[in-house]
Amino acid sequence: MVKKQELARATSDEFFSSVPKGYSIGKTKYIIVTGSVISGVGKGTFTSSLCNVLKWSGLKVHPIKFDGYLNYDAGTLNPYRHGEVFVLDDGTECDLDLGSYERMTNQNLSKDNYLTSGKIFKTIIDKERQGLYLGRDVQFLPHVTGEIKHFIRNCAVNHNPDIIVVEIGGTIGDLENSYFLEAMRELAYEENKNNVCFVNVTYILRPNILGEHKSKAAQLGIRTLMEQGIQPNIIVCRSEDNIKESIKEKISISSNVPVNRVINLCDFNTIYDVPLFLKNEKVDEIVMDILGIKPKKDFLINPADWKKFVDNINKPNKEIIIGITGKYTGLHDSYLSILNALEHSAPYLNAKIKLKWIETTNINSNNVKDELKDVQGIIVPGGFGERGIEGKIECIKYSRENKIPFLGLCYGFQMAVIEYSRNVLGLEDANTTEVKETKNPVICILPEQEEIEDLGGTMRLGGFDVIVKENTLAYKLYKNKKVRERFRHRYNVNPKYIEELEKNGMIFSGIAPEKRIMQILELKNHPYFLGTQYHAEFTSKPLEPNPLFLGFIEACLKKN
Ligand code: GLN
Repeated sequence: MVKKQELARATSDEFFSSVPKGYSIGKTKYIIVTGSVISGVGKGTFTSSLCNVLKWSGLKVHPIKFDGYLNYDAGTLNPYRHGEVFVLDDGTECDLDLGSYERMTNQNLSKDNYLTSGKIFKTIIDKERQGLYLGRDVQFLPHVTGEIKHFIRNCAVNHNPDIIVVEIGGTIGDLENSYFLEAMRELAYEENKNNVCFVNVTYILRPNILGEHKSKAAQLGIRTLMEQGIQPNIIVCRSEDNIKESIKEKISISSNVPVNRVINLCDFNTIYDVPLFLKNEKVDEIVMDILGIKPKKDFLINPADWKKFVDNINKPNKEIIIGITGKYTGLHDSYLSILNALEHSAPYLNAKIKLKWIETTNINSNNVKDELKDVQGIIVPGGFGERGIEGKIECIKYSRENKIPFLGLCYGFQMAVIEYSRNVLGLEDANTTEVKETKNPVICILPEQEEIEDLGGTMRLGGFDVIVKENTLAYKLYKNKKVRERFRHRYNVNPKYIEELEKNGMIFSGIAPEKRIMQILELKNHPYFLGTQYHAEFTSKPLEPNPLFLGFIEACLKKN
């Protein structure tokens, strides 16, 4: 954020375009992606796919997501309303789009890739309270927009990318995103024309009663963008199936965008096809042409690797059914990274995965068998609170006893410890103190969490090392004594019970380096019974699937 001296300089004029030290115009180029007509139009897929394909040309990209909500970050958002909270290595809790960026760019991101209105306003008000605006009234223009521009220029200096790709959340016309848009208009003005490329992702309606595509809503959406002083350079028309040339022409004439820069992006079977499509349509070349840059010699993502990965998606030779338990089963986006990890790991084993959602609130020892009879494996994902946990524990017991592959992630790991304590150690009242005070709190709060009251950004968050024990399943899969995985939790295995759990056959095959925090558990004499205190799904990427997911799917295939 804007530093003190820069701020003093910047407050003296009306431009307030403070640039961080070391910044030079033209060194980093910008692509700004906006959406019109409807939200959920596929801006995220387009943005991440474009980043992917630019890396084929060796260009270093830095994706940024702007989110208009007033939350500081996504940490306190309910996944049932908003979809999964994704966690970055530096502990940033963010929008699930950042997960798509990481998977499609095959790179790890940080807080510098995510900006909310809440974060900007907090910064500004903190500064105002410190008197840093030197008596000036603090305004949306130039201060809020200045802070936004500063954020992205800072990324240019600190990360040195060839291109910063900004995705502005929401739809053109939203009040809460309007100052992001204004900031990007100012940026284009200040950076000069050839350094900024605007892309609008729009939607071409096809009302059932008419049975043909209609471009008016898209035209109006684009016009709203132009009314705000932004001339798009490329229009991406999303539609269910191909639109006619005449529709493209209408869009072109009404938006000043040459018809060869009006791209029709239809629905695909998988999002992994989209980079190939963009390459085919030469969108990368169009962008490079607009920005005046050339491809580099060495690629940053090998196109051949990507093509091979996509090819394999299309030739599975075995289908398996995987059960996912959980209380957010109504909104699949709540588990987006798990679904993606399964989807992008399966092609490596020529498998196709069908999901079975298991709502655990009604599961008990009598009906668990029926629920699980057709699955080849189950995943018990992360979660919070009491609802559905007894059903999860029943599912874990059933998969342990009946040798059904099991993968427990975070809360799923903790549930596995509770199940084992109850049914193998005989501690009938074993539980987590998150839901119940009990005589046998086998899962308890982390010591450093005891005093914390605020909910946002206070869990044990982000990437930590995991020391993997040799001669274990975890070691066999990771082939490494030390790995780095991502965490988001307040509770952990109560150290008082570790010895007894181990004596009774539970193996803690991954632990934290300095603290006594158990991070992976597994059982012998079972095809695959493994739980992680971390979210293995967050580090899994199409070109580097997490080995624990590969191992799990492999075990499920054998079960079939
Ligand atoms: N509720 C558990 C905890 O806070 C697990 C959290 C999770 O699954 N992300 O430790």
